[in-house]
Amino acid sequence: MIPSLPQTESTLGAATRSVRLAAARNQYSWNFNSRVAPLGIAESLPKSEGFSPLTLGAQVVLVLGLLDNLLSAASRLLSSGGKLAVTESLVEAEVEAVEGLIEELSAHRGGLLRIAEKAGRPYASRGLLTKAVEGVVDAIGGDDESPLQLLESIIKSLAKAALMDLLKVAGLAGPARSMDDYLNLFNMLLMPSTFSSTGDDRFFAWSRLAGPNPMVIAGVEAVPAGFPVTDAMLAAVTGAGDTLAAAGAEGRLFLCDYAALADVPAGTFPHGRKYMEPALALFATPPVGAADRALMPVAIQLGQQSNHATPVFTPADGPIWQIAQLHVTVADGNYHEMISHLGLTHLVLEAFVMVTHRQLSTEHPLYVLLMPHFQGTLAINQAAEQTLVAPKGTVDRLLAGTIEGTTKLAVDAVAGLNFREAALPRDLARRKVDNAQALPVYPFRDDALPLWGAIESWVRDYLSVYYPNDSDITGDTELSAWLCELENKDGGAGLTGVGPIATLTDLVEVVTQVIFRASVQHAAVNFPQRSFMSPTPVFPLAAYTPAPTSTGEAGGDEAVLRLLAPLEDALAQQALLELLGGVYFTRLGDYDRYRMTPYFADPRIQPLVAAFQGRLRGIERQVGLRNLERTPYTTLLPSAIPQSINI
Ligand code: MN
Repeated sequence: MIPSLPQTESTLGAATRSVRLAAARNQYSWNFNSRVAPLGIAESLPKSEGFSPLTLGAQVVLVLGLLDNLLSAASRLLSSGGKLAVTESLVEAEVEAVEGLIEELSAHRGGLLRIAEKAGRPYASRGLLTKAVEGVVDAIGGDDESPLQLLESIIKSLAKAALMDLLKVAGLAGPARSMDDYLNLFNMLLMPSTFSSTGDDRFFAWSRLAGPNPMVIAGVEAVPAGFPVTDAMLAAVTGAGDTLAAAGAEGRLFLCDYAALADVPAGTFPHGRKYMEPALALFATPPVGAADRALMPVAIQLGQQSNHATPVFTPADGPIWQIAQLHVTVADGNYHEMISHLGLTHLVLEAFVMVTHRQLSTEHPLYVLLMPHFQGTLAINQAAEQTLVAPKGTVDRLLAGTIEGTTKLAVDAVAGLNFREAALPRDLARRKVDNAQALPVYPFRDDALPLWGAIESWVRDYLSVYYPNDSDITGDTELSAWLCELENKDGGAGLTGVGPIATLTDLVEVVTQVIFRASVQHAAVNFPQRSFMSPTPVFPLAAYTPAPTSTGEAGGDEAVLRLLAPLEDALAQQALLELLGGVYFTRLGDYDRYRMTPYFADPRIQPLVAAFQGRLRGIERQVGLRNLERTPYTTLLPSAIPQSINI
């Protein structure tokens, strides 16, 4: 099928398109009353939108790793015959229930293993994972239980009350007594390298530039009025004689402002009061000419306005400084999951998936271009809406606010987005982080910009084939209906600032961002969930102690352990983030990866795809070389970026 614009159709062709579109609108109908209301999401999942067998296969392999991790800890407690050897805190019925649960989980493990073993069970590394899941697909349809049923039975088993007893006797629940307790949760799993850097100032700053949420840091000319930082505090970090005025004028002052979290009510599930502060964190780079120009933290205030309860903390304050850092990380983690991740990638893309199906017919060139970048998005979003953000679900358990207040962060982020203004080059300029002299190392910026350029060239090349003149754009009635429903706030997606789309330049700008957000931007915030933030001490998602109210308060290991979530929640964080950050399905630009015939049937498109792939290979090499010169940042290697949001 060669794509075509609606204005080129015969009367019959036009009628066929409108009949098909009516059917699509029926299939992709809006639900405006979900947990993310008033945002619209798919009312139900059309059959073709289910998880790909390959994604399920990858999930099987990851869950096998997590279950191995849990069962190997439990197996230490068993004597021969599967009987619990350590039972002092449990009554007889509880002992039996725990033994039953271990047996049940071992049986599930066997089921997962049967599927994964057909693929050689190589779940350790990313490259091998793809091979493994290809084998898993062969296994599906055989005599084995389906992966989806198996995963559902595992979730059911883990919901049993005996799980808590099992974790208790295995030493995997309750308050941690030392940092080793958190380390030991990664019994059979690779502990992310970030665990050993936690608490270091340079790592704390680098985390804002190359961590899971490199979207908040912004250059400022001056420190906000309510945040009383002094020249001496700056000079202690960036060198004698440096002043806030000089650093601000040279673009070397940077602020992470978590004001967006200020109105979230404190959550209490499941152990009682949790804390999250709308923190301010000031960073700076030393002046040009300094031997080391790395970004460093200068000061932290755990609230928007300075008062007796929220003093300014600096690295000179000793151990309490680390507690202040951890509160900033809690804010960053909540901002990351709800705003940068769920809101600004998953839910923004939901809008484009829905409207594209509802307003562009299947032969529309833009429909053809976008479909690979929408694969799996409705399925993962449905799972997120139905289970993750459910009351007493995992987000309620792990994050700091009430589930309603937390979910509202994601909804408000979408509603507050000005789409065109959020294009990467504009976003970097607006945040004043686009000056490489003022901020020499910003791995997200340095890797994402060439990717933006490559996607933009590809999109322009592709769309130019079908829209040789701007009048082809203004004459495209499906495209205008698409834009209209994207921006419609009463019964549509309700996005702001997508239009106007009057020229090829406009359309290229919008479509570049849709593909970039579905691929690069999602990868930037999704995959560090596993490689960076799965250990609770690295990225606590809630504080269990209030912010310190004086720089003289005691810090140190005991204060850190009191602040962190108990071990059973750390295990839940590990499980969720290892899973969400571990599935790499499809690869940016590789449109033919799982196909026998080329995805783009139009022969004019083949050389354009090849050019895009060539640019991506060049970027892969550039990133590799850059990683020899900086602390390695591998999140945006093009080969590690899926085409779409499917996890
Ligand atoms: Mn995701």
